[in-house]
Amino acid sequence: MAKIDRVRNIGICAHIDAGKTTVTERFLHHAGKIHKIGEVHDGEATTDWMVQERERGITITAAATTLDWNKHEIHLIDTPGHVDFTIEVERSLRVLDGAIVVFDAVSGVEAQSETVWLQANKFSVPRMAFINKMDRVGADFGAAVASIREKLSANPVPIQIPIGAESEFEGVVDLVRMKAYYYSDGIEQTVEERDVPDAVKDDATLAREALIEALADVDDELAVKFLEGAELEIAEIKAAIRKATIDNKLQPVLCGTALRNKGTRTLLDAVIDYLPSPVDVPPVSGVNPRKTEETLTRKPLDKEPLAILAFKVAMMDEGRKYVFLRIFSGTVKPGEEVLNVRTGKKEKVARLFLLHANKRQRLDKAGAGMIVAATGLKGATTGDTLCTPAEPIMLERIDTYEPVMSIAVEPKTNAEREKLEFSLGKISDEDPTFRVREDEETGQTIISGMGELHLEIVVDQLTRTYGVEVGVGKPQVVFRETVTGEAEQSATFERELKETLMFGGATVKVGPRGRGEGTTIDVALPAEPEIPEELVNAAVQGLREASQSGPSGYPLEDVAVTLTGIETREEADPEVGVKVAAADAFRKAVGAARPIMLEPIMDVEVVSPDEYVGSLIGDLNQRRGHVQDVDPSGAKSEIQARVPLKNLFGYSTEIRSLSQGRAQFSMKFHSYDNLDS
Ligand code: GDP
Repeated sequence: MAKIDRVRNIGICAHIDAGKTTVTERFLHHAGKIHKIGEVHDGEATTDWMVQERERGITITAAATTLDWNKHEIHLIDTPGHVDFTIEVERSLRVLDGAIVVFDAVSGVEAQSETVWLQANKFSVPRMAFINKMDRVGADFGAAVASIREKLSANPVPIQIPIGAESEFEGVVDLVRMKAYYYSDGIEQTVEERDVPDAVKDDATLAREALIEALADVDDELAVKFLEGAELEIAEIKAAIRKATIDNKLQPVLCGTALRNKGTRTLLDAVIDYLPSPVDVPPVSGVNPRKTEETLTRKPLDKEPLAILAFKVAMMDEGRKYVFLRIFSGTVKPGEEVLNVRTGKKEKVARLFLLHANKRQRLDKAGAGMIVAATGLKGATTGDTLCTPAEPIMLERIDTYEPVMSIAVEPKTNAEREKLEFSLGKISDEDPTFRVREDEETGQTIISGMGELHLEIVVDQLTRTYGVEVGVGKPQVVFRETVTGEAEQSATFERELKETLMFGGATVKVGPRGRGEGTTIDVALPAEPEIPEELVNAAVQGLREASQSGPSGYPLEDVAVTLTGIETREEADPEVGVKVAAADAFRKAVGAARPIMLEPIMDVEVVSPDEYVGSLIGDLNQRRGHVQDVDPSGAKSEIQARVPLKNLFGYSTEIRSLSQGRAQFSMKFHSYDNLDS
């Protein structure tokens, strides 16, 4: 196990097609883990496991791969790239300590790289930029760097410049060492050091000055030396770049062409040199699950109590469950019991592994800062916190996984019904944001998830992975219900069964509670007559069952329920009657308390050049959105709004046409609410 300061947990982010998969492949090759380079378009990429991901060109699975480089251990965390998976993207950003953002040397910053960049800003993820595809016709390093500066309001600082471009691209000048590095053509990518060639000498001198000035701007010590005209040591410059990168004051820029095997080795060196180890980033924080207002932090040390985030569940090896873990603090061993905070249950870790591209390495211990895969964690799902039972901490809010959209799925043949049920069960094991239920009235199977694309992918997975053909209905928003007024109602139940008279009555009061406060059930019976405990329990059980759904059959939320009366009759058996009557009285009370439907409201974030802000806000208003804030940050404005999900169908197309393709948005569940009230 590498020492913690020799660990790098990093992600590679990019716009689709910029070359993320190819860069990852080259990394794995250089680290000696795979010997044949699978061409991405042949569908042999090692980290993309699922067929549909390759076809769509998006990576959904945040898998982690480990590679050894220069006595360091790099854990590569795959970051999903689509807005529908915002939670997954954000979770992977929490799990990694630094990122490489890959850009295409011809197109520079594109829509998606912009979204990812903003998300990384939110989590203060230190990053560097790799300008890929320097071999393409039209490749322009300077323009790509300028687009990062302008479109992302970032501080990109080249630490290399290219020697040549397009078919003439041969290598780079390393501005720290002021040496030229030439790459051989083969996959082995041998790197040869030479003096800086005359053709780029002037450019290199200017670029080096710009690098030193950028460092002096953010590093006082270096600034003093620089102003005194002292010669700077290589180690000093490297340390300054590292510090400024980790503090998020600048982003080093490198270049190359992954496809032609140039520049990815030096990129790996730069990961070690400039991206943070787990000890370089702030301690993780969470809350005390028993007292959620109390914030707790854990330093990245083996001797701290365990704090682990389960960031991905994957079924591999014919359905065996692997849970990917980021260990923020403490150590864990196979056979050890950990507390799953969400379920409140202890679970045993069976085995621990590092997953290399083509082999699994068993571990007898894993410590702070590591990314590992575990088996044996039967109850754990994505997003769960695992910790030392005696010192619980909750790293992630549990209510972030509200499925908000649903569709009906039908097997094409009746024979496939069982297979469908089985497959959907498997999928929901892996993905906590995905749910399955049967509609009581129609008998249809309803699946729900985080958005249209999410559900589309599930349907795809059914066909490809499990071989079940299904027909699908129209996507529907998932509603909830609540009450807006108070009401009290009574009901009785009377029946004779096998010569026994059953009778019971109950009175129930309901009233509204604040959004998100949940439903409560209280008992406030008059002092006389005294009611036996088991009858009260039977009535409460009746209320508990009835309060699951509202008048239209959707889940009921945020209602204060009070049992205010129980009626019995001598010589009659009361238990069943009281339970049924309580449920009945409850339904009548809800009906009288002005019930309403709640719909999912999304937090929408739009980033756009200033000139389109007016029409974008107009459009959001038309969608019954509430604009919360408009922040002109740099070259772009950021609009924050709350919008009902059902008015967001087709939003991505509309936003493109309103902004000539230049605005981006991301959305995330905010709450269930009624915007009309
Ligand atoms: P991803 O979608 O970001 O994972 O991108 P891929 O790695 O799948 O690459 C997208 C396409 O660009 C593939 O056809 C690659 O072969 C090609 N590609 C990747 N890197 C380079 C490069 O350096 N130069 C050129 N010309 N093409 C590249």
